[in-house]
Amino acid sequence: MRLVLLGPPGAGKGTQASNIVEKYGIPHISTGDIFRANIKEGTALGQEAKSYMDKGLLVPDALVVSIVKDRLLKDDCKQGFLLDGFPRTVNQAEALDSELEKMGINLDRVINIDADADILIERAVGRRICKECGATYHIKFNPPKVEGICDKDNGVLYQRDDDVEETVSTRIRVYMEQTQPLIEYYNQRGLLLNVDGTQAIDAVFTVISEELDK
Ligand code: ADP
Ligand code: AMP
Ligand code: ZN
Repeated sequence: MRLVLLGPPGAGKGTQASNIVEKYGIPHISTGDIFRANIKEGTALGQEAKSYMDKGLLVPDALVVSIVKDRLLKDDCKQGFLLDGFPRTVNQAEALDSELEKMGINLDRVINIDADADILIERAVGRRICKECGATYHIKFNPPKVEGICDKDNGVLYQRDDDVEETVSTRIRVYMEQTQPLIEYYNQRGLLLNVDGTQAIDAVFTVISEELDK
């Protein structure tokens, strides 16, 4: 299965991605995670990406596209993949289309998870991530058993630098301007699955997996 997860920051893409990749046995490709891993390792790519991410802006298309192209050529993508947070501009979507065409493959579905801005802000600001395994929690909606500690590996939970209210608001605005046009882009191609992201985590996953199993 070849899937794209679309939606504003905080909609629940990463949370649903973990469930989807576990159920369907496909690799999870999150461009945000790739940038954060590069920042942690101190690479030049990480440094460049961070200058945009900290402001809530998108990293330039050329940089993101070349990373995704390389990643899609890896062996594990032969069985399918889940792109999370890519594409985010029409330019990126067109680059993805031409790359997939070269590879002789198509996307199966684009899952668009949506929620209103007030919900997105509350979710993003309360998000906490495990330093060890990257698991995502929420202080109110999906708290760990022990505050500040990952259930899976006892890793320390941290808050992303860009999950402060002002930056989240910028990210939502950037999403509206640059990413939202992709809803119509994929609708026209008959790939779009709209999911109400305001439901509980399990309910959202039930809707997605019922659709994918059809
Ligand atoms: P995205 O990848 O779209 O930015 P995440 O999956 O990281 O979003 O979710 C953002 C925050 O909201 C996280 O703290 C997550 O635990 C929480 N969350 C995700 N889905 C839901 C939901 N359906 N209801 C309540 N909280 C949610
Ligand atoms: P995310 O983890 O998806 O919330 O992404 C965090 C940040 O990484 C975004 O605010 C952007 O700065 C950057 N980023 C991630 N994916 C992309 C992309 N496809 N295009 C441009 N920037 C991206
Ligand atoms: Zn962990």
